[in-house]
Amino acid sequence: MPNNAKFLLENTKNDPVYVESSGVGVIRSERLMNEPGITHGFTTRRGGVSKPPFDSLNLGTSRDEPMWNIRANYRVLAGAYGLSYEEMALVRHEHGDKILKLDKSFCGRGIYREPLDFSDGLVTNDPGVTLMTCHADCSAFFIYDRATRSIGLAHAGWKGMYKRIGQRLAERLQAEYGADPADMVAAVGPCICENCFEVELELAQSFAREFDCPDIYREGTGEKADKGYVALQAAAVIQLMDAGIPRDNISLMRLCTMEEKELFYSYRRDGKNTGSMAAFLKLV
Ligand SMILES: [Zn+2]
Repeated sequence: MPNNAKFLLENTKNDPVYVESSGVGVIRSERLMNEPGITHGFTTRRGGVSKPPFDSLNLGTSRDEPMWNIRANYRVLAGAYGLSYEEMALVRHEHGDKILKLDKSFCGRGIYREPLDFSDGLVTNDPGVTLMTCHADCSAFFIYDRATRSIGLAHAGWKGMYKRIGQRLAERLQAEYGADPADMVAAVGPCICENCFEVELELAQSFAREFDCPDIYREGTGEKADKGYVALQAAAVIQLMDAGIPRDNISLMRLCTMEEKELFYSYRRDGKNTGSMAAFLKLV
């Protein structure tokens, strides 16, 4: 039986919660909030010191904004959510499927030390390092295994989604720490939604083939007849299930980064002249 995107999106838990601390707004998964062994979040524009068009919590280091502002924003985020600025390590993404294993010797990399090697996912079992990724319409995969106390965080644009970075992340936790996918809990961060994510029809069709899911896209009509609209969140659920994570252990945060202008930066909406959100995941 092929996968059914409509069924998966309607029947997978959708549990985003907006929380605010010291003026810094983040989106959290209710399920992951109930895990005492970790802290996590997906930031919004709210909080921070950035001026327009980066207002006001830009955490992306590849934009045309001074690094001291961005570091100040990391400090603001750390202060608001009980994290340590010194312990953060930021992925240097390349829209691939490479995953780095970190420990506390990597603290500060990409923020106040030299960048990490290129990768899109990070794993650790060390509570002394906070995993960080950056996002502008791209989703995040958060995975936690309670038994082995190991975590994984990944940046997933459409390319990473297509290359199954979420599945690779679960497989790496299994290979590296002996985590059993049947016990893992996973959450998928906000991203551009299936109504807004327009691509060439051919690309949409290759998503359907890759994920064995004919309804993962819908065809455009009229002058958009050569376009397709892809449900990236369905691709996320399918690859996590293909890794062996039960659907009951998966949560989505189905907020659209392109439509929620007040909450999110969006590359599709605003081009390069905008900031980035960040995701964080840490063992506590
Ligand atoms: Zn949308």
